Amino acid sequence: MKWTEEAKKAFEAVPPFVRPMAKKGVEAYARSMGRKIITPELLKDAKKNLMGRYGMESTDSTVNKEEPDRKASVPATQYPNRFFAREGVDPLKYAFDRKIAVHAGAGGQALPAEEALPTWQALCIKPDSSPRRTVYIHVPFCQSRCLFCGFFTHTLRQGDSARYTDALLKEIEQTSGLPAVTGHPIHAVYLGGGTPTALDAGDLKRLIEAVCRLFPLANDCEITVEGRVSDFEQDKMQACVAGGANRFSLGVQSFNTKVRQDVGRISDRAEVLKMLTTLTDLDNGAAIIDLIYGLPGQTMAVWEDDLRTLFEETKLDGADLYQLNVFKGSLLTRAVNQGKLPPPADIPTQAEMFLKGREMMTAACFRRLSMSHWGRTPRERNRYNTFIRYGATCIPLGCGAGGRLHGHYFFQEGNLKTYYRRVNAGEKPVATAILLPAHSPLFRNLVGQMENGRVNLTTLGEKHGFDLEAVFSPLLKQWEQAGLIRRPGGGWIELTVAGEFWNVNLAQALIDHFQHYHQEDAQPGSMAL
Ligand code: SF4
Repeated sequence: MKWTEEAKKAFEAVPPFVRPMAKKGVEAYARSMGRKIITPELLKDAKKNLMGRYGMESTDSTVNKEEPDRKASVPATQYPNRFFAREGVDPLKYAFDRKIAVHAGAGGQALPAEEALPTWQALCIKPDSSPRRTVYIHVPFCQSRCLFCGFFTHTLRQGDSARYTDALLKEIEQTSGLPAVTGHPIHAVYLGGGTPTALDAGDLKRLIEAVCRLFPLANDCEITVEGRVSDFEQDKMQACVAGGANRFSLGVQSFNTKVRQDVGRISDRAEVLKMLTTLTDLDNGAAIIDLIYGLPGQTMAVWEDDLRTLFEETKLDGADLYQLNVFKGSLLTRAVNQGKLPPPADIPTQAEMFLKGREMMTAACFRRLSMSHWGRTPRERNRYNTFIRYGATCIPLGCGAGGRLHGHYFFQEGNLKTYYRRVNAGEKPVATAILLPAHSPLFRNLVGQMENGRVNLTTLGEKHGFDLEAVFSPLLKQWEQAGLIRRPGGGWIELTVAGEFWNVNLAQALIDHFQHYHQEDAQPGSMAL
């Protein structure tokens, strides 16, 4: 690769200790753009695009931002940018500076607010026969607020359950007969929130019954009710089963009484185990829980005990192991900053907890369903989450729900009053419509396969009409060298254990690199869609 004299001079402004890796990055960028000579303009462009434009979301952990010990122990030359991983370090703990929260996404173009409803109306009369079709119902109420939560919106008050269920039933009646809904079976339904189990037993039953009666559900449709331990009494469990639910996903987070109550969960260990036993004794649907690693006060010993409790003291069908994400401005950040709670685990410690979780789940014969989801019995399929990662059609229902239809993403009204007013007026309460990038199907396939730990770039590329191995070549070579992926041949890339931990960073980098390569008019990484 040739450099002009001006480019060489401009490059001298880069601090000497990062020059070798920065040079590699600039030249890889130039190759990806089909350029053979580095000019000052290209250098500027590379800097902007490789170090700034790829604005990945990261967790807001104060530990993630500061990490003085970690920086001291890792050579500074290994900090090129957010795109290429550090080399010569333990990739599990130190591959990147920041970890992207939640999901990789491709962004999109928000349409003007006045076009949101007409766009929905134009698309919902168009039949949809996507291979994966889902319905998402949002219940925006919780009994109380957990400190780490980024999704809390309303505390449940007297009368909310019946009023909200009435509105949902109206919306279901208005939506379920649309051509985009009726033409093909629905494969998964998810009641999420918030906390659906905050609703009364009778309301849960009539809501799920309406879903089963009015939507064209496939015979093997997965119907999940998300909930929390403290408000899911036996009468509600029975109401959900009677209504037609066949999967329950409960947020346990930790079995340790102090750790869970410190972050705002209500029940103690004994109550959690009692509730889970009542649920699994019903023997009528898959029961799974979420566990979180990295919570304040959750040492490795506590984490191991959480996992052992799952194995030995429950009959659950599966579990999700999630890394704690500390959201900006959350109550947890405030409590830590005020010294009321110890800081959550830093990224290297979370990486060790991820590894421990992976080892213990494997030894306990749980099977991997995705990077964070594990099944113990054949009952657990995790269909909804898997389908959504692959970009499934998703019909949104409820205040604050999100969904996807015919290349667009829709957000519904998040304001309860406006939601009630619009539904009662017979209007679909769509608030925002986002046009997804032209290559969104490719990105979703990429993200979906990454979640399974291996991607075949040859077949994926053939399906979407690109030579993906060539497009991604600079990243793949570097990641292989850094210990994040293996390339066994035949177009496969396989994540190493470290690659699994950083898989969202890798998926996001591939999407951003592709979008830049094709100069798509989108906002890379701005939103996980
Ligand atoms: S119950 Fe769930 S949604 Fe509600 S505040 Fe707690 S973590 Fe958030």
